[in-house]
Amino acid sequence: MSTADRPGTTGTGTRPQPAERVRPPRKARPNGQWAVDGTTPLNENEAVKQQGPPLEVRERILSTYATGGFESIDPDDLHSRFRWWGLYTQRRQGIDGGRTAQLDISELEDHYFLQRIRLDGGSLNREQLRTIGGISNDFARGTADLTDRQNIQLHWVEIASVPEMWRRLESVGLTTIEGCGDTPRGFLVSPVAGIAKDEVIDPTPVAQAIRDTYLGDPELANLPRKFKTALTGSPTLDVLHEINDIALVGVRHPELGPGYDLWVGGALSTAPRLGQRLGAFVSQEDALDVWHGVIRIFRDYGYRRLRNKARLKFLMAEWGPQRFRQVLQEEYLGRTLPDGPPPEPPRGDSDHIGVHEQKDGLFWVGAKPPVGRLSGDVLLGLADLAGRLGSDRVRTTPSQNLLLLDVPSERVPEAVSGLRELGLEAQPGVFQRHTMACTGLEFCKFAIVETKRLAERVTAELDQRLADLGEAGPDRRITLTVNGCPNSCVRIQTADIGLKGQIITVDGEQVPGFQVHLGGGLATAGRPEAGLGRTVRGLKVPASDLTDYIERLVRRYLAQREDEESFSQW
Ligand code: SF4
Repeated sequence: MSTADRPGTTGTGTRPQPAERVRPPRKARPNGQWAVDGTTPLNENEAVKQQGPPLEVRERILSTYATGGFESIDPDDLHSRFRWWGLYTQRRQGIDGGRTAQLDISELEDHYFLQRIRLDGGSLNREQLRTIGGISNDFARGTADLTDRQNIQLHWVEIASVPEMWRRLESVGLTTIEGCGDTPRGFLVSPVAGIAKDEVIDPTPVAQAIRDTYLGDPELANLPRKFKTALTGSPTLDVLHEINDIALVGVRHPELGPGYDLWVGGALSTAPRLGQRLGAFVSQEDALDVWHGVIRIFRDYGYRRLRNKARLKFLMAEWGPQRFRQVLQEEYLGRTLPDGPPPEPPRGDSDHIGVHEQKDGLFWVGAKPPVGRLSGDVLLGLADLAGRLGSDRVRTTPSQNLLLLDVPSERVPEAVSGLRELGLEAQPGVFQRHTMACTGLEFCKFAIVETKRLAERVTAELDQRLADLGEAGPDRRITLTVNGCPNSCVRIQTADIGLKGQIITVDGEQVPGFQVHLGGGLATAGRPEAGLGRTVRGLKVPASDLTDYIERLVRRYLAQREDEESFSQW
């Protein structure tokens, strides 16, 4: 048989055709899962983390960088390990959003830092308020922003100020450890934990135990990416449990009593995914172990090859809740968790604004700082007000609100007016109440558009313009979030009106604007289940037209809605 006669050959050479070639079985590309692929770093970020425990950068900050100045900082420390202590470089002033994608990080960043102070559960006493207020005025040009994870962020911080800033914080029991980085970030805890009359279970002991046992644990300080925790026992479902890596949500088991329903794998950003129930009931006693099991699954099995595929949600997408629960029980807990019920449909206002009676007969007053913006003076004023009222407890919320706790009934009017004098409104308009804005162009290196000042102006205008409708006006929550880029820090996809900043073209001119997402929301009273909003295809709204656009949209909703129809149902 000639070569030309052989099946699979052309007669022009001996190169075998595909049908004949014997290929070795294709090995799936490793995902960098430590438990599967080994711990060899597959990208630069992983390599930096393995060069030395990231938390050890603290010593270099204190002993070298604070005295050597910005120029003395090792770039790997600056752009990676500093985050383990809550420090990010802030955006250089004067660079417009259109240039964000074109510039290198060193051109975008300033010599000043954002310092995030972690406040697991957002609890602060008067001494802590005074300390942060003092630090803000002394080292951060009076800035202080509430974040949507109950933390406080300061801007304009210089590296030379860090040792004294940390000394003051730590002297009153506060810390910045694992404020950012690939770590267990600050936990969301129900802002009314331990005080709400209708609480199913108080998660405070669990949050405290996790913090006491695992904060700063080097075994959990090199995760594939950030790991977000949420804990609540409030029937209002007030900690965004669907968009955290792990959430423990208070439920009553028919035989076992109060405990938690376990949710895993939620996160937003550019590939949003809601968390899933594992169907497991977690008792108060088991909660610490379960949290530890889930975070170690993430450490050991989480994907580390690509950073944009490294959140726990991607592992959950592959495994599904059944396999996740099986691995948790068999490999990490060594026992089976009982099945449990889902949370009841939410009831009550999850933002906790207004005046509410606590279970001990005292009251909390929930107030809104415009778009989460505070200042050093406001924090000092709040500490003074709390002192006058005999309160020693303030809490922040995931909606960028503040609660003043333990107010006697006869002092409530004084609390409300005192908060108002500080710019903290306990009876805000619908839009002021339900609007959140991220840091945006003012300080964020990733930002494309300005957010906070815009949101403050737009919400004030909307509340004013729609006031003429009186009782026909918006009488219930319409959530609005203003995000400076696709990273969705204040949750584009889970708002009634979610705005994603981008540069758009209007009449041939490049201007700041927004892509619009409508109809998203987390489970709240009147909306039993979370859902992600949809992009309105082709719609781009210039920032300058935002008030007009939202006003038109809301007036249409008000005109067309039927009875109890909420904005998200419309
Ligand atoms: Fe920065 Fe974008 Fe996050 Fe806003 S959404 S804070 S602009 S990263």
